[in-house]
Amino acid sequence: MFAKIIVDIANSNVDRLFTYSIPNELDVRPGHRVLVPFGRGNKPTEGFVIEVCPEYETGFPVKPLIRTMEPYTCLLEDQLELAKWIQKAYHCTLCDALRLMIPAQLRGSRVKEKTVRTVRIAEGLDAEAFRASLLKKDGCPRSPKQLEVFDMLVKTGAPMEVSDLSAYIPNAAAAVSALIKKGCLTEEGFVTFRDPFGNKVERDIPPELTKAQKSAVEAISEGDEGSVFLLHGVTGSGKTEVYLNAISRVLEEGGGAIVLVPEISLTPQTTDRFRRRFGDTVAVMHSHLGVGERYDEWRRLRLGKARVVVGARSAVFAPVENLKLIIIDEEHEPSYRSESKPEYSADETAIRRVRLSHGKLVLGSATPQLISYLRAKQGAYKLLSLPERINGIPMPNVEIVDMRREFASGNNGIFSRSLSEKLKQTIENGDQAILFLNRRGYSHHGECRACGFVFTCPHCDVAMTYHKFDDSLRCHYCGYSVRVPQKCPSCGSRYIKYTGIGTQQVEEQLKELIPGVRCLRMDTDTTGGKTSHRDILDEFTAGNADVLIGTQMVAKGLDIPNVTLVGVVFADSSLFHSDFRSGERTFQLLTQVAGRAGRAMREGSDLQGRVVIQTNAPEHRAVRLAAVHDYKSFFDLEIRDRAHTLFPPFAVFARALFECADEKRAAELASEFSEAAEKTIAETLKPHDALNELLFIGWGPAPIRKRDDLFRYSVIIKLARTKHTSLAVNALWELSDSNRTDGFRGVEINPTDLL
Ligand code: ADP
Ligand code: ZN
Ligand code: ZN
Repeated sequence: MFAKIIVDIANSNVDRLFTYSIPNELDVRPGHRVLVPFGRGNKPTEGFVIEVCPEYETGFPVKPLIRTMEPYTCLLEDQLELAKWIQKAYHCTLCDALRLMIPAQLRGSRVKEKTVRTVRIAEGLDAEAFRASLLKKDGCPRSPKQLEVFDMLVKTGAPMEVSDLSAYIPNAAAAVSALIKKGCLTEEGFVTFRDPFGNKVERDIPPELTKAQKSAVEAISEGDEGSVFLLHGVTGSGKTEVYLNAISRVLEEGGGAIVLVPEISLTPQTTDRFRRRFGDTVAVMHSHLGVGERYDEWRRLRLGKARVVVGARSAVFAPVENLKLIIIDEEHEPSYRSESKPEYSADETAIRRVRLSHGKLVLGSATPQLISYLRAKQGAYKLLSLPERINGIPMPNVEIVDMRREFASGNNGIFSRSLSEKLKQTIENGDQAILFLNRRGYSHHGECRACGFVFTCPHCDVAMTYHKFDDSLRCHYCGYSVRVPQKCPSCGSRYIKYTGIGTQQVEEQLKELIPGVRCLRMDTDTTGGKTSHRDILDEFTAGNADVLIGTQMVAKGLDIPNVTLVGVVFADSSLFHSDFRSGERTFQLLTQVAGRAGRAMREGSDLQGRVVIQTNAPEHRAVRLAAVHDYKSFFDLEIRDRAHTLFPPFAVFARALFECADEKRAAELASEFSEAAEKTIAETLKPHDALNELLFIGWGPAPIRKRDDLFRYSVIIKLARTKHTSLAVNALWELSDSNRTDGFRGVEINPTDLL
């Protein structure tokens, strides 16, 4: 027998199958990791077995592989197929794709199984005689420690873990070793799994499902293999309960399930909900696990000790056997797209995986991605709705404040009169408030303080970005640029400001407004450490501050019961971000804030919970419709515009990035690539009579023109999404592969942002 393997070396030069013979005594199957002699010096090298075949075609002599790394296959059949798909879909080496599916530390055996040492009294030992030998003539022990250990083991009469012994008897280990040497103790050991939870939970009693929940669960259970469901339900409508029930059914049939939640929501609170329902069959996978814990959770799944995994994005690759269900909660979260190579998106990957494993996929959200809802409307996904909250709890009331009016009436501070008043009240009452800054990335755009006018690109209808270096406003989708005018073209005011408000400014003004107020700030400056995000939330929950100020990250804190006021300080900073998705993102964020806040706020208290949204664009649909929780209307309007302006999901963007110390060089490379790309795409599309599907191609400085002393230039390509798109994309990949120039950072398809 022969094995075709991929060596575990991340280099595209060796990204092909190598054949080795399998020694007779070895059981080698596809999915095994093996050690093979590789390269000139026959250096033992790890590899993945992709295929096993009885014959070897060419007459060239082959070497035998050395051994298997693990007794079990590390990759399941559907994972092997999935890796091949990842390789093609996200343009990476097969080796990189395979590495996604195993714990990194498994490679090179950098992580070991945890074994527990136990000792017991040796069989047939005359305990009394031996005890006597531990004593001196005068009856004192020769070694008090050894005697203590011996006595304890005799008293217990059963094997004891060495670590337990040490808990009773300090430094017992040395005495244990000595006693083993003397032959009175026998040592044993067993392999165990590290426990990432650190707490026990009690099983819960599942509630009776509502009618809407029941029909959702039924639909999922009865759906065809490979089908995708979109579960659209406001926060608090019982989506998680639907997931739990769907998983229950899968487990009854002997299947397994994967649940993806955004990394930031992967708290013990979340995982415990699954553990209370399913017990030890639940494994977790997230970035806060230690190396050993991660390996063990992976192994528990692979060996069938756990059949449900709750994890972040990468858990979509978990080794769940007989995988019948994948759930992606909050499916609209941008964090489901990987930002490092391979740049896979969890939802596209999950769609492929359930097809391979004959399972089903459920996407859940209160504000689904436009593309998901579009697919549901077109029938590609099945739409399931939970239109109401459990127990008829009403959606919260949201007040929108027009900041232009505040400005006109002489208030040019950060807080409107309404928000100021409510803040004071809240703190007087001893309640807590959250101030939320809707800000992501660098939102430097031109906006008039007096009338709210925003400079948008006449060709693309997105906000233009302010570039300080030449005092211009630029569009990053088409390169259009203008010099910044002195006055607002709409109202003549000179108050045109270019930067968003920072959390620090908010804190300063809050302290002016309410002397002595206790604030906590949560932004990327304050949450550098691994756990500080959670630490800050804990501190706030414990009541050690009156106000929590932060960006998107504070959204998790909205479940805190003492919070009776949520203020969105400035809703627009992501609204007019120079990104075509900014309306969609703003709508998602504000809906989440508005929905979440209402749930956490105290019921039956005389002070009802309140949400205040401050904005310069109260009439903007993302603000207006989020305040009344109207997803459907938002979708209809937004998708109509996307179709009209040909933006995703009706188009595909590609970006090639160049970074050079010499600005001229970066620009030159970008312009050369642009020319070559235009040519190769045209050659690809022409035979199909589809030249018009190349909607735009152009190059220019990236929004962040200079970073780490490197000048950054990019080529932007926009293609209509048709049946020819993948041909054009493949042509681009090829061009990208053949481009070996220094400073070339590769091509990205539909990048998360264009910064
Ligand atoms: P979502 O995931 O949509 O935010 P959850 O599933 O967390 O909603 O449900 C919100 C709250 O309602 C939770 O406290 C949950 O335990 C409770 N709940 C869900 N379904 C039911 C039900 N059928 N009967 C009673 N309580 C329910
Ligand atoms: Zn103006
Ligand atoms: Zn433009």
